[in-house]
Amino acid sequence: MTIAYLSLGSNVGNRRRHLLYAISRLRADVATKELQVASFYITEPVGGVVQDNFLNTAVRLDTKRSAESLLTFIHQIEQQQHRHRFIHWGPRTLDLDIIFYGDVQMQTETLTIPHPEAKNRRFVLTPIAELATDTESVSQQVQAWLAVTPDQTKIIKLV
Ligand code: AMP
Repeated sequence: MTIAYLSLGSNVGNRRRHLLYAISRLRADVATKELQVASFYITEPVGGVVQDNFLNTAVRLDTKRSAESLLTFIHQIEQQQHRHRFIHWGPRTLDLDIIFYGDVQMQTETLTIPHPEAKNRRFVLTPIAELATDTESVSQQVQAWLAVTPDQTKIIKLV
C-alpha cells in the first residue's frame, strides 16, 4: 500500500459534481483502502488564458496501485467526464494529477513525481497541506514550497 496525494480541478459545467464523481470513482476502486478529501477551494485560473474560475480540492489515497496504474486509472476517470460533456476543445471538465506517490521521485515519458508544477500552484499545495499532517516528508515539502511559491493568485476556501 502506498499513500498518494492527488490534485483535482474543474472549471466547466457543474464543477462540484465533476469533483464528487472523481472522488467516488477513486473511493470505489478495489485498490483503495482509505481516502480522505480536503476542503473545496474556488481558485483563479493560472497562466493567463481567459476562462472561468476553478473548483479545486485534493485527496489522500491509500492505494495498492502502482504509480503507472494510478495514472491510467485517473485518465479513465477524466475521459469518462470528457466523453459526456465535451463538444469543443476548451477548459477542462476534470483535471486529475498525481502530486506525490509515497516518497517516490521519478521521471519517465508519461509520469513525473512529485508533479513538476505543484510548487507553482497554490491551489495544489493548499488542499494537500490540509491532508498531509501525518506524512512528514510531504508536509515539510508542501510547507517549504508554499513559503516560496511565486503563485499569488487568490484562492477561497469553501466552508
Ligand atoms: P495534463 O494536461 O495536465 O492533464 O497532463 C496530462 C499528461 O501529463 C499525461 O499525459 C501524463 O502522462 C503527464 N503527466 C506527467 N506527470 C504526471 C503526474 N504526476 N500526474 C498526472 N499526469 C502526469
